[in-house]
Amino acid sequence: MLSDVPNSQAQARREIVSYQVNCTKHGQHELAIACIHVCHATKSGASIGFYWSRDTDGPRPDAWCRSCELWNREHPGAPLKEWMQEANFQLLCVHCWDEAKAMLFDRFQEAG
Ligand SMILES: [Zn+2]
Ligand SMILES: [Zn+2]
Repeated sequence: MLSDVPNSQAQARREIVSYQVNCTKHGQHELAIACIHVCHATKSGASIGFYWSRDTDGPRPDAWCRSCELWNREHPGAPLKEWMQEANFQLLCVHCWDEAKAMLFDRFQEAG
């Protein structure tokens, strides 16, 4: 005999996930996303450019370098998945993101 289990609102439990990353440099912070080249450039200081998406629902928009930007322009019909593989997006904390922008974009702007 099957007992009739009351279906109380389907018990839809919505977990609010706070996306955080434990940065070795800055500690626990909200996370941002940047391509692997940007992540490497924050350490090497290589001038690889800095681009970011206009729309974001995170604390920072996704960011990528010049070569990823060019790849994107040269493959306008490419599925997003392919570009994601090309850029190999990495997680980094928002402070690292800010540092990357300051290093790769702001400095470049000042240089004219
Ligand atoms: Zn890149
Ligand atoms: Zn950091």
